[in-house]
Amino acid sequence: TRAHIDAVEAARPLNAYILETPEKALDMARASDARRKAGEAGALDGAPLGIKDLFCTNGVTTTAGSRILGGFTPTYESTVTSQLWRDGAVMLGKLNLDEFAMGSSNETSAYGPVVSPWRRNGDASPLTPGGSSGGSAAAVAAGLCLGATATDTGGSIRQPAAFTGTVGIKPTYGRCSRWGVVAFASSLDQAGPIARTVEDAALLLQSMSGHDPKDSTSLDVEVPDFAAFVGRSVKGLRIGVPKEYRVDGMPAEIEALWEQGIAWLREAGCEIVEVSLPHTRYALPAYYIVAPAEASSNLARYDGMRYGLRADATSLTDTYEKSRAEGFGEEVKRRILIGTYVLSAGYYDAYYLRALKVRRRIADDFTEAFGKVDALLTPTAPSAAFALGENADDPVAMYLNDIFTVTVNLAGLPGMSVPAGLDARGLPLGLQLIGRPLDEGLLFSLGG
Ligand code: GLN
Repeated sequence: TRAHIDAVEAARPLNAYILETPEKALDMARASDARRKAGEAGALDGAPLGIKDLFCTNGVTTTAGSRILGGFTPTYESTVTSQLWRDGAVMLGKLNLDEFAMGSSNETSAYGPVVSPWRRNGDASPLTPGGSSGGSAAAVAAGLCLGATATDTGGSIRQPAAFTGTVGIKPTYGRCSRWGVVAFASSLDQAGPIARTVEDAALLLQSMSGHDPKDSTSLDVEVPDFAAFVGRSVKGLRIGVPKEYRVDGMPAEIEALWEQGIAWLREAGCEIVEVSLPHTRYALPAYYIVAPAEASSNLARYDGMRYGLRADATSLTDTYEKSRAEGFGEEVKRRILIGTYVLSAGYYDAYYLRALKVRRRIADDFTEAFGKVDALLTPTAPSAAFALGENADDPVAMYLNDIFTVTVNLAGLPGMSVPAGLDARGLPLGLQLIGRPLDEGLLFSLGG
């Protein structure tokens, strides 16, 4: 824990942590030590972790990367983090993220962008660690924690993992409780870990998972011993390669990475099968209707009265308007506007309802594919990490980054990104494995 506290301090220019909690970390480490000495060691005994600042932590300010929550200190602990502490993990601090987890580059954070510890060969320009869990990915990649919590609504665990050479898994919707996690789009949001190895990710997910009566969408199912799946033979498994993911303009190196992944799985004894997910091309438009719609509703609670920032104002309406105008950033405002529009009386059927129908089709495509194969293999993102600022003024270019990840959230499936090598400029690339509902174990076998 001390070594990590020092590393975090030395790496402040990366801006991975919004808040460092070194004293709390040392207290937790001592407590975990005492339990070990009493013969009560937990599965994550003494493991120093970073917590994405979207998880409410009792007595520790929680910002969601937004000004609007300024100074908000929860009086409760999220279920996921309380399970990690139950198993002996130690909290080093709260990690930076895109505001309310809306973004793919960590540039929408009110606390400034996170800088990736990676650089292109011979090029000093600062790169994005991806988003929205950019702080989590950068901290894990730079050794500023052993592992981190993250959340994934449309790719925010998997894309930053791919950009930083780390492992990230978004479990099946309902596997981890959403209780105490600041809501973005509740039907898509899932917590999961980012870690340095597949085995670490399995151990962390094990602790984070489980039924929680406080979240009505939490699944009441047994949590398997995920770590036991790592290293198991994958011989004889059928792995699908969805042909619609060969999108126009896919860079040759992403294509080559995918071929490499196919070759590795063949060598391990898997059979590779081409499958079709015909509604893939509608996934991004559907996601960018459903997610903002739910966000506009979830974010209605930030009114300047209940939490955080309250602007100087003369009336109730004025308080709402000014607090929201000052408290939310550009991207969040854009989502609230889109969401409110697609849910409004005249447009609901044309946009929101239609997006829900597309969502069903996308889920059905996967169900059909999983009649033929055990898992799917795709690239995680259409490119390696881009430079900070490169896509910042073009929201649509930014949204296109999520092309391979949003389908998994729309269908509620587990998806994992594993590091799969470096591109020509020395940057990490990730491959994505997608499984049947509740089949995270198989992903750990394939990824490991
Ligand atoms: N980049 C996507 C978005 O901005 C996904 C974010 C996430 O998964 N939290 O909506």
